[in-house]
Amino acid sequence: MSEDFDVVVIGAGPAGYPAAIRAAQNKLTVACVDEWKNRDGNYAFGGTCLNAGCIPSKALLESSELYVRAKEEFAAHGVKLETIELDLAQMQKRRASIVKTMTGGISALFKANGVAGIQGHGRLLPGNQVLVTGSDGSERTLQAKHVILASGSAPIRLGAVPHDGKYIVDSWDALEFDAVPRRLGVIGAGVIGLELGSVWRRLGSEVTVLEALPDLLPMADQTIAKEAQRHFKRQGLDIKLGAKVVRAVVSGAAVDVTYTDAQGEHTLQVDRLVVAVGRRPFTENLLADGTGVVLDARGFIQVDEHCRTGAANVWAVGDVVRGPMLAHKGKEEGIMAADLIAGRYGEVNYKVVPSVIYTAPEIAWVGQTEEQVKASGRPYKIGVFPFAASGRARAMEAPQGMAKVVAAKDDDEVLGVHVIGPMAGELIAEAVLAMEYSASTEDIQRTIHAHPTLSEAIHEAALAADKRAIDAINR
Ligand code: FAD
Ligand code: NAD
Repeated sequence: MSEDFDVVVIGAGPAGYPAAIRAAQNKLTVACVDEWKNRDGNYAFGGTCLNAGCIPSKALLESSELYVRAKEEFAAHGVKLETIELDLAQMQKRRASIVKTMTGGISALFKANGVAGIQGHGRLLPGNQVLVTGSDGSERTLQAKHVILASGSAPIRLGAVPHDGKYIVDSWDALEFDAVPRRLGVIGAGVIGLELGSVWRRLGSEVTVLEALPDLLPMADQTIAKEAQRHFKRQGLDIKLGAKVVRAVVSGAAVDVTYTDAQGEHTLQVDRLVVAVGRRPFTENLLADGTGVVLDARGFIQVDEHCRTGAANVWAVGDVVRGPMLAHKGKEEGIMAADLIAGRYGEVNYKVVPSVIYTAPEIAWVGQTEEQVKASGRPYKIGVFPFAASGRARAMEAPQGMAKVVAAKDDDEVLGVHVIGPMAGELIAEAVLAMEYSASTEDIQRTIHAHPTLSEAIHEAALAADKRAIDAINR
């Protein structure tokens, strides 16, 4: 016998669980099926983001940053500490407890909204049925009017770098180290490589990051990327660009990594090696034959701009579909699908998806880089404001980096905003809102920003675009 629902969501990560909650808010009957199990063997909602991604990484970034600041900055504030000791076990306990609280929160939200949270593996069958298999092998069939696929992504593995979970690890393993590796290798200077490399560098590891591409952060505005590179170097992150890993072999309690660059072949010995070379869409055992759902050449579920798959009443959202693999992008897609199913309005503005890299200084941007605007041929202007001229940044002992606004010369529209500096990830929200409303630099210039705040940097950068900055020399 099947159980009937208006909507069945497969996956309770940041794309799936908001879809389920919004569908329930739209007065639809909803089930959300998820198979995630943590290392303790227990099921947990929240997907990669809450269990092994955004949340645990930010917990460790925050703790490790405090450790460094206590060591390097407190004295400048006139705060003297006799000894500063790392208690990694406590740091990890805190990380785990934040994850537990947050994932438990999703169960509570499901309950409050009337979503049936079901733990087990979901498989889409033809006719919009979902076969759920529990960990004991028991099966139940859910009949849905609509199905939303939100099965997420998994780390890409390299054939010549065999993962063993102890010496050669992925990002999840690297969040749960119980000792600081003396020498840490990271393959990939993407977002994960930089964030996790920063955590372990701050806690004392010698970190070497091997990046195949010749430039750091090619997707970011290059003024910001160059500034970031300078800071990472000063922090002791050894980032080798143009370094292609050929193989890695565990030898004793270490890993021998072979890579090539313009100078030839090199070997590097590390105690732990993190592979962070991107993620792939996860669709294992998700689709039975005959569902009509199509995957593209890279394994992503094919969808239109409203996240409809080719199959009637089957939708797909989050990391398993095209676009940036970001929690907030997946969340908005899930909400859009749930609203469209209910006959309401729904749309995602893919032009203004913010990106944040939670290093120190933090990096955040939205819209086009200067390089992209230049390549488009549209005449543009830029305004830059350094945090060195920000009273608040100085008070925080964090006067590093800058805010940069790229705007059209013809109609003054803001085309991109790029920040490297303290709380950049929070500051970018203003730029996202401005761009959502197609703001001009004049709109930002005429908006009152409280003093002294970091947000004044965005205000001043907008003024600088017209050479009218007050608190910095206009160039
Ligand atoms: P997922 O979060 O992967 O969730 C999918 C869920 O579906 C999982 O629970 C999975 O077990 C379940 N599932 C899959 N198949 C089935 C099935 N057949 N049946 C039942 N359940 C199934 N993004 C940010 O925006 N900000 C960050 O700071 C950030 N930090 C990150 C740090 C790290 C270390 C990593 C790895 C990622 C980070 N990300 C971050 C990316 C972010 O985690 C993903 O973009 C996001 O989790 C994608 O959400 P999703 O719901 O599509 O998929
Ligand atoms: P990524 O795509 O950001 O970076 C992977 C890097 O590895 C790239 O720079 C690539 O050139 C390099 N690379 C690929 N193959 C290589 C090889 N063989 N040798 C050396 N370098 C190689 O991927 P990621 O860092 O693994 O992150 C995965 C996803 O998770 C990303 O899409 C990211 O958006 C998301 N994420 C987001 C955040 C955040 O929003 N703060 C944090 C972590 C992860």
